[in-house]
Amino acid sequence: MKIAIAGSGALGSRFGFALHQADNEVVLIDNWVDHINAIREHGLKMTIDNQTHNAAIPIITPQEIPANVTVELLIVFTKAMQLDQMLQDVKPIMNDNTKVLCLLNGIGHEDIIAKHVSRKNIFIGNTMWTANLVAPGHSESFGAGSVNLQNLAPGEENMAIAIADVLTEAGLNAHFTENVHNTIYLKACVNGTMNGLCTLLDVNMADFGATKDAHDMVASIVKEFAAVAAFENVQLDVEEAIEFVEKCYDRTTIGEHFPSMHQDLIKNHRLTEIDYINGAISRKGRKYGVSTPYCDFLTQLIHAKEDIILK
Ligand code: NAD
Repeated sequence: MKIAIAGSGALGSRFGFALHQADNEVVLIDNWVDHINAIREHGLKMTIDNQTHNAAIPIITPQEIPANVTVELLIVFTKAMQLDQMLQDVKPIMNDNTKVLCLLNGIGHEDIIAKHVSRKNIFIGNTMWTANLVAPGHSESFGAGSVNLQNLAPGEENMAIAIADVLTEAGLNAHFTENVHNTIYLKACVNGTMNGLCTLLDVNMADFGATKDAHDMVASIVKEFAAVAAFENVQLDVEEAIEFVEKCYDRTTIGEHFPSMHQDLIKNHRLTEIDYINGAISRKGRKYGVSTPYCDFLTQLIHAKEDIILK
């Protein structure tokens, strides 16, 4: 399949590498000059479970997209706040049949994508794969992951299944789901608790989980996600969602990891995706008349931390 990865940073590189290894025709798209130069000079370095591989995958900027070259599948992997601009920039690589798959963390990305792409071509979901950038041109990833995805428009189920198959053939363990918004909200509960709280407290997930009030803090936030989700016909089981979040504390799996927001803000001094996670719940809460004081405050605290660190 002809596939472009738009936003080929940590996770985009992981997916691009796997799809390239599985003999798809992959092009990486990014606008980070050092990263592009490193990949052009040395190939994409991908460390998976401590083994480093090298792959000669083409990488271009959006401005370098050749005329009359389009792809069958565009997988978007920017940060949430970069999605709108990136879709504008990569328009030339899409034709009327190009499918767009979005697995970004957060809620409501389909509304942004639908500004650029017809709904029948939009496929959304989320992923439990993780990756970090070690250096320009070098991404690393540990452990196993999965992908859940679904078509946005009715009638495109077979295409969603076909896309899941392409990912699975590349070892990315993808599943078609009939209830993707439930899955997205469930993952958003993890991001909406672990990301902001571990970032503010400067701890990994296991150490956060060992604090006395961890359970109550998580429960308060998850209840707000569930209350908002209900207005979008997503029935989140609060106890199940809390249990799902609390699995992150396990030191034998991912407990020792710092969530991506911690890496973005504390380690790399970059803006966070808070407005697309807790901030999205606050906005939706205002729209539906649901009070979301924990998400409001967490969003404000993270913005304050951004102001302090990035000033
Ligand atoms: P990243 O910052 O490493 O990668 C994003 C890339 O997009 C960067 O290389 C950046 O240069 C590029 N980009 C931004 N604007 C662009 C534009 N206009 N044109 C072209 N390229 C552009 O981010 P990431 O960690 O790979 O995360 C991507 C998404 O996946 C986020 O929503 C994140 O929450 C989600 N996610 C990440 C992980 C993870 O472990 N990294 C896990 C699950 C979900």
